Amino acid sequence: MPDTTIAAALADVRARITAAAKSCGRDPKSITLIAVSKTHDAARAGLAIAAGQRDFGENRVQEAEDKWPGLKAAHPSTLHLIGPLQTNKVRDAVALFDIIHTVDRPRLAEKLGPEMRAQNRRLPCFVQVNTGREEQKAGIDPKDADAFITACCGEWDIPVVGLMCIPPVNEEPALHFAFLREIAKRNGLAQLSMGMSDDFEIAVALGATHIRVGSAIFGTRAKI
Ligand SMILES: *Cc1c(COP(=O)(O)O)cnc(C)c1O
Repeated sequence: MPDTTIAAALADVRARITAAAKSCGRDPKSITLIAVSKTHDAARAGLAIAAGQRDFGENRVQEAEDKWPGLKAAHPSTLHLIGPLQTNKVRDAVALFDIIHTVDRPRLAEKLGPEMRAQNRRLPCFVQVNTGREEQKAGIDPKDADAFITACCGEWDIPVVGLMCIPPVNEEPALHFAFLREIAKRNGLAQLSMGMSDDFEIAVALGATHIRVGSAIFGTRAKI
């Protein structure tokens, strides 16, 4: 892609977010666009930064460690972890990331809380809910969500700000977004991380505060 393509794609996505927000009476500023730069190198992420983008998402700790310390030093950026977090990567993740979207199981939460305290970095966290109850997918089962959120905020001392989901492919995302919103509401959580390239306008209509957009900004990814 030529250099201007990422800037143009970003402008297009931002315009679509604004239109989607206005059509349901929301303030577009209440929605954070996370540009998902996974598999794209630092130079391409840098083009998005040059176009004014400040929030970025990565799904692998190692890849983010290779790419982001230099970029962050040059330009203040907010880095979101949106992929599964292995317990042996918790220390590195807390040191590098600013927001974690994938708190998805007790074994992780019981490490994450103490690690954030030890590093004195209390990162805002989202609990990932497996709204489709898919065997192979990360996330807490919806029936366990309330108890897990309570334990995260209580015994593990994790600053939970909201919920995150990835709807099953080939299912109507709106049902999953509405379900996530309902779980968040009854737990008093204000933020919702939901919506990707193919469905972010639907997510905005259902209350998303953080949308995670990769291919609509950076183009299709090489398969990894
Ligand atoms: C890759 C990824 C995205 C972005 O997906 P696109 O369809 O490219 O927008 C969003 N969320 C998560 C958790 C991802 O892993």
